Amino acid sequence: MHRQLAGSTLVIATHNIGKVREMRELLAPFGLEAISAAELFLPEPNEPGTMYAENAGAKAQAAARASGIPALADDSGLAVDALDGAPGIFSARWAGPDRDFSAAMARVNAELLRRGAASSALRKAHFVSALCLAWPDGHEEAFEGRVFGTLVWPPRGDCGFGYDPMFRPKGFRRTFGEISAEEKHGIRDWKGEPKALSHRARAFVALAQACLGRV
Ligand code: IMP
Repeated sequence: MHRQLAGSTLVIATHNIGKVREMRELLAPFGLEAISAAELFLPEPNEPGTMYAENAGAKAQAAARASGIPALADDSGLAVDALDGAPGIFSARWAGPDRDFSAAMARVNAELLRRGAASSALRKAHFVSALCLAWPDGHEEAFEGRVFGTLVWPPRGDCGFGYDPMFRPKGFRRTFGEISAEEKHGIRDWKGEPKALSHRARAFVALAQACLGRV
């Protein structure tokens, strides 16, 4: 039995502005207000784990303990098949201290070319999102979502964040950089039908079903 979320305020355990924006948009339809860890001046915890779920758990637990209210954390990354899953949990680190994702995308492309992966068949990748909802008493609920696609070069579009401009989800001609926020992580299409596209939206649907009692 999953624990239900009772209150209406959550801490979003991240200092990443792109993630805060997406998570706020995911939570708003449920009447949930989200305060970011940065707004509460919470320190950015280390990500000690070798797995997404472990890191999401560490971030959510630290924020729930420090704030005294439930906290939601996402640990996510881009796994490239031809690079044996890299950058994976190191996706943020590939952008360096300046969070330069143009450089990170160029590095992914250079590594692919070094391995002879020029055609789209050899440039398959997926995003993973591990979500952890933690309570101040230490209880936690964990969920995961994935979205599969292909990496293009050069990057296209300036929507989203991180590696979005080089990721073309399966079944689309446009990259995540060319797809509106609503289409990328909305959990319904314009007809109101469930249609979570991004890894984070897919993980969030699982969370909403389990802990909010509805989607
Ligand atoms: P972390 O979860 O804070 O370790 O950071 C995950 C990193 O993965 C982000 O900084 C982005 O580089 C990348 N990432 C995760 N989700 C997305 C996404 O939806 N679009 C583009 N990049 C993403």
